[in-house]
Amino acid sequence: MASGGGEQKVVLITGCSSGIGLRIAVLLARDEHKRYHVIATMRNLKKKDQLVEAAGDAYGKTLTLLALDVCSDDSVRQCIDSVKDRHIDVLVNNAGVGLLGPVESISMDEMKKVFETNFFGTVRMIKEVMPDMKKRRDGHIIVMSSVMGLQGVVFNDVYTASKFAIEGFCESMAVQLLKFNVKLSMIEPGPVHTEFETKMMEEVAKMEYPGADADTVRYFKDVYIPSSIDIFEALGQRPDDIAKCTKKVIESSRPRFRNLTNNLYTPIVAMKYADETGGLSVHTFYNLLFNFGSLMHITMSILKCLTCNCLRRRTISPD
Ligand code: NAD
Repeated sequence: MASGGGEQKVVLITGCSSGIGLRIAVLLARDEHKRYHVIATMRNLKKKDQLVEAAGDAYGKTLTLLALDVCSDDSVRQCIDSVKDRHIDVLVNNAGVGLLGPVESISMDEMKKVFETNFFGTVRMIKEVMPDMKKRRDGHIIVMSSVMGLQGVVFNDVYTASKFAIEGFCESMAVQLLKFNVKLSMIEPGPVHTEFETKMMEEVAKMEYPGADADTVRYFKDVYIPSSIDIFEALGQRPDDIAKCTKKVIESSRPRFRNLTNNLYTPIVAMKYADETGGLSVHTFYNLLFNFGSLMHITMSILKCLTCNCLRRRTISPD
């Protein structure tokens, strides 16, 4: 049985074999005051090596491992049942999958898989853990959303939809949970440099995209992909930055519901709420991609200038 012990908070994190989840697990498990007992979960425990190495001497002390597939009812139930008294103070829903490309070339099954992980996987976890938190009148649920949970991004249509879905679910749940003293926080990173992102960019550049017309494939490969690589280079954060932001949210006495981690994205979100018709966002993104694509570096500089201090205060900083 995994167990908390002492005054330590028990934190269960999904999708810890790589990327952001791994860094959150290590940062909390290596907390200098040993305030956390981390239950780091992953689908396949054979993929534990990177995490175990990064955790160092915290492994087996403040960090234990459990198998968990967020897409399986049985796996989720078995995992939570194996936690001592099913007591989880903080649940970090990090597991997620991406999907990029013209919608015409994506099968309905591929789309459903994204929703099965990013939306239903998170809902499944919350359903399993929330009743005990409500009973105890204590707990904190964290959801790794994305800036794409707030603003649609071309050629990320299905991924964006899955993150919008979980934003809507959580925005509704947060009100009820407040009555039970259970906190709910979304973390909304912009681009983050992970192996996942590099692999996805390389793969999409090679793929054929059957079903999509030649113009669409050309816009995707020759316009969107290069711009996207520029954006990752100019604005990308490290998984460690997101881990630090998440720790801050966990440690806040009054955590915010929404937590953008990258202040360069605040103008984008502000623009969305500045025009309720949606026209400003749609036309700005159109111009950025199709009219000023070659000036992307300059556009990035403008974006940096736009992030004045008042907007910065709306984000959570890793420092
Ligand atoms: P990643 O691929 O390194 O991490 C995702 C993890 O989820 C992996 O360890 C994967 O094995 C796990 N996972 C996938 N399906 C699972 C399942 N059914 N059950 C359990 N685990 C499963 O990528 P990452 O960038 O670290 O992503 C972590 C989270 O951050 C995701 O929710 C992602 O949507 C979000 N995010 C990422 C970025 C980015 O640019 N990388 C930006 C914003 C938000």
